[in-house]
Amino acid sequence: MSRSAKSKPSALSRLPSVDALLRSESGGELVAHYGRPMTTDAVRDALASIRKRYAKRADVDTTDALVGEHAVLARAKRTLAHWFEPSLRPVINLTGVVLHTNLGRAVYPEAVMREVSAVATRASNLEFDLHTGSRGNRDSHVSDWICRLTGAEAATVVNNNAAAVLLVLNALGHGREIIVSRGELIEIGGSFRMPDIMERAGVRLREVGTTNRTHLKDYADAIGDETAALMKVHPSNYEVKGFTQSVGAEALSHLAKANDIVLIDDLGSGCLVDMSVFGLPKERTVGEALNEGVDVVTFSGDKLLGGPQCGIIAGSKRCIDTINRNPMKRALRVDKLTLAALESILKCYADPDRLTESLPTLKSLTRTKQDIDDAAQSLAAALRDALHGDREPMTIDMDIGVFDCESEIGSGALPTRTLPSRAVVLRVNADSRQKHGVNALAAWMRALPVPVIGRIRDEALWLDCRTLHDPSDVAKQLHALVDQARSAASADV
Ligand SMILES: *Cc1c(COP(=O)(O)O)cnc(C)c1O
Repeated sequence: MSRSAKSKPSALSRLPSVDALLRSESGGELVAHYGRPMTTDAVRDALASIRKRYAKRADVDTTDALVGEHAVLARAKRTLAHWFEPSLRPVINLTGVVLHTNLGRAVYPEAVMREVSAVATRASNLEFDLHTGSRGNRDSHVSDWICRLTGAEAATVVNNNAAAVLLVLNALGHGREIIVSRGELIEIGGSFRMPDIMERAGVRLREVGTTNRTHLKDYADAIGDETAALMKVHPSNYEVKGFTQSVGAEALSHLAKANDIVLIDDLGSGCLVDMSVFGLPKERTVGEALNEGVDVVTFSGDKLLGGPQCGIIAGSKRCIDTINRNPMKRALRVDKLTLAALESILKCYADPDRLTESLPTLKSLTRTKQDIDDAAQSLAAALRDALHGDREPMTIDMDIGVFDCESEIGSGALPTRTLPSRAVVLRVNADSRQKHGVNALAAWMRALPVPVIGRIRDEALWLDCRTLHDPSDVAKQLHALVDQARSAASADV
């Protein structure tokens, strides 16, 4: 053994024991805050990493403050704080995609949370009829509102629109054939492929037509004894252009009725009001689809509707009754928090004139370019101030400007239409000698207490301000951005 190796045990032997640490005053505080099992683990981790450090540095001074009780517990406390940080937490979405599936899609109005919280923290009449005192139906809290807003005879709600499609197909077509145009056999977000869902639902897919053209005759020729339904699917995230032909719901509905089968329409986003009233591209509403004679529609709650994740099924009473009797309904049903949020959001639609104020999704989508520009200019000024203030040398050498950009609605709603917007563009100067480029900048933004998510394009970070309603949300965090840039710079030297 070398001399320095021999000196190690003396340093390590001075490390306090786990037991002593937990019994100490600050150890006790950690136990009170985080619980004994996790605190014990964190203290063990802290001791282990200190031991490792000593093992690497054999010649370390045995009086090193690292081995003291205070140092070990401080390390354990940092670890515990990290372990207990919420994993699911708010971010600031400046990607330019308003309904961003990875960032939680629709944002609720604050008022909705009062209703959700009331139901979450108390017992509720979820499945209890307060008039009769007997068992109730959880759908009853929202189905009347859905019917009123869409003209449907009946409605039910499940976990998301993928579940709605799965349930509808299984309930109305199990073991039989469903006819779909080849132009509508879509894939959404990689994990939802219409042909796969059909297979899992136990229905046989009968494809008709071609990718770009399908005629009424194609459907008519395919109908046979095995046919349960005709189905239309909103193409959501793509558009067939050029030499195209598809068959409208009205014609399909006549064909379905003549053959005593049903017409199903997966609307995807499902809007309840005509979006063109707000200056947005026209999208067929749920009410219009039902008016055209569709028997059952399915749509998402958290896309254009602006509510919680759920799948809404609306249509004829006969179909909805069949769907509700299907055992899969029980497996796919929604919980009380979703219902509370959905009920509250649906009530916003009672006053369509105020929707652009009451629903954050519509508020973001209908914002004027001038209003977005104001937010962008204010954010740009705050960034210039924080990053190259007069007193300090520039923390990050970059150009900060406000430019035109295009926002997307997202989630497959009106896929090929974009909305003119304004973005703060941060372009790190490539010719300066700094090592940290746009990727580092994006990473520092993501590491802020409330992470800011932008989009990298042409070597610059674009922050689309359409969804930035309060620039101070970002501005007040910029000192943390500067700290990160500084510590990255000092780590380089
Ligand atoms: C988005 C979408 C779905 C899936 O809806 P989720 O609510 O995400 O499950 C299904 N069909 C169409 C046409 C869609 O646009």
